[in-house]
Amino acid sequence: DDNQQKIDYMYKIIVIGDSAVGKTQTLSRFVKNEFCFDSKSTIGVEFQTRTITINDKVIKAQIWDTAGQERYRAVTSAYYRGALGAMLVYDITKRQSFDNIARWVDEILTHADKSIVIMLIGNKADLSDRREVPTEDAVEYAQQKGLFFSETSALKGDNVESAFFKVLEEIYGVV
Ligand code: GDP
Ligand code: MG
Repeated sequence: DDNQQKIDYMYKIIVIGDSAVGKTQTLSRFVKNEFCFDSKSTIGVEFQTRTITINDKVIKAQIWDTAGQERYRAVTSAYYRGALGAMLVYDITKRQSFDNIARWVDEILTHADKSIVIMLIGNKADLSDRREVPTEDAVEYAQQKGLFFSETSALKGDNVESAFFKVLEEIYGVV
């Protein structure tokens, strides 16, 4: 229970990307180590928190989820305000969700601080038989844009923890 703990830093992280790519499940995998099979699409949710330790410093990650406003430009600037990190999620089985990543990067850079740490995430890596986005395409895009990159499975839990830790450690190193 992190109410008893002294918090050294509070980092706001946003989760962003097209609808149904697995943003909410990725967040709940990191925060609660849970995957919910019958989750309804999120309405009105704000944030969840998880407290971690880096170099003996207690860091509270406040992770924001969109509330079904993922249509282009429907996410308000308040969502981005003060965010130090962004988990930018697409679905490896939906090419369109990867093709829309450039728009989301534009949105992030328009509304958030320029030093925001961005992790590009190809989620649903467990569905490799239905893959529409080759890993190399994402690696190349991430390199071009200076983003971190990881493929994850919120369902199996693969790489979710390490992707969030990478962002939090990077923020810790910068701030
Ligand atoms: P959001 O709209 O981006 O928040 O997407 P959700 O987290 O609600 O997930 C959308 C759908 O994809 C749900 O049916 C989830 O069960 C499913 N899903 C999410 N993550 C994964 C994953 O890693 N693997 C698989 N196979 N399905 C996933
Ligand atoms: Mg959601």
